[in-house]
Amino acid sequence: MKKTIHPEYFEAHVSCACGNTFTVGSTQKEIRTEICDKCHPFYIGKERLLDVAGQVEKFKSRAGKAVTRKKKTVSRK
Ligand SMILES: [Zn+2]
Repeated sequence: MKKTIHPEYFEAHVSCACGNTFTVGSTQKEIRTEICDKCHPFYIGKERLLDVAGQVEKFKSRAGKAVTRKKKTVSRK
């Protein structure tokens, strides 16, 4: 390993919005997250979401717009 080019490596304490905490290796000491394997619907197999900032609603409305926009074939260039 080359010296001076690598960031400092910590055992980071991760705290999720659902209350779960765990540690990972990271260049940050503290990590706050809104979703983890204990509360993500993919891992728990059911749709129970802690929607902190209306992210799901935002995504669903954006996804709905994208579908209607596709029909007009808008290019962003
Ligand atoms: Zn969680």
